[in-house]
Amino acid sequence: MDTILSLINVSKNYGPIKALNNVSFDVPEGSVFGILGPNGSGKTTMLSIILDILKPNSGGFSWFGEYGGSPESRKQIGSLLETPNFYHYLSAVDNLNITQAISGRGTKKDIDEVLEIVNLTHRKRSKFSTYSLGMKQRLAIAAALLGTPKVLVLDEPANGLDPEGIAEIRKLIKQLADRGVTIIMASHLLDEVEKVCTHVAILKKGTLLTAGNVDEVLVNEDIIEIASSNMEALKTAFENYKGVTNLKLDGKTVHLFFPAGTADIEEVNRFCFQQGITLNHLTMKRKSLETKFFELTNN
Ligand code: ADP
Ligand code: MG
Repeated sequence: MDTILSLINVSKNYGPIKALNNVSFDVPEGSVFGILGPNGSGKTTMLSIILDILKPNSGGFSWFGEYGGSPESRKQIGSLLETPNFYHYLSAVDNLNITQAISGRGTKKDIDEVLEIVNLTHRKRSKFSTYSLGMKQRLAIAAALLGTPKVLVLDEPANGLDPEGIAEIRKLIKQLADRGVTIIMASHLLDEVEKVCTHVAILKKGTLLTAGNVDEVLVNEDIIEIASSNMEALKTAFENYKGVTNLKLDGKTVHLFFPAGTADIEEVNRFCFQQGITLNHLTMKRKSLETKFFELTNN
């Protein structure tokens, strides 16, 4: 998978407040990438930096492999940080006509299409003031989709919505991901991230705790990663290894899954040695996100 966005040692201070402290991670193309952390952990600051709304004090980022991005790359990025100011007495179509004219993103022809994507076609002629909060939020996402961006950056997209509204946003994000749009979204809710994201970066007071695939970061398991020059032999050797609940061959590493707290890295190393396998990689991954998130929200 190609990398869409890289953050490289990003730091940001507001006077004495360290909002972001040396944060680095990569967002793979096609992912739904959650930036997870409690209020005040630096999520909005981070999104503002990657969208050029704020300048970092140090470090930087690459969009599509280009350091600092470019006017061309900007056109590929749709964003929703603050709810846009729609006209209450105008319809969805009229509001988007204005948004399109001001932003210059996409063409008038895109308007019907983006309204269809966010499931507002049936109400496109109704006044904005008659919309539910969920519909207003979907219209804001429709505005961000003008110009068919490859990436969508959303700050707490489900915040303040009722359960039905949240479910609709969730469905929409999944649909967009199915169309190949990479989505980067901030959230303070573990549940939200677990339900829609493929990847996650966890922030605590501006510091990155962990980043990676949700399947690996979120599970209540220990994961030992191993690699050797003969991957097939390695995989076969561990097929019946005691305590392994799951085994995955992922590119250049074998991932061994154990129930939380039971993995023994020395034992794995010794076993390989006995089998005549020389490892060139051996690491143990963190426990559960649940535990991590609990730690971070509780101090
Ligand atoms: P989040 O979006 O995760 O809630 P923010 O990025 O909004 O976090 O804020 C991170 C930290 O920076 C917080 O301590 C917040 O109070 C502080 N902060 C955010 N914006 C400003 C600002 N404009 N001036 C001073 N401090 C700010
Ligand atoms: Mg925020």
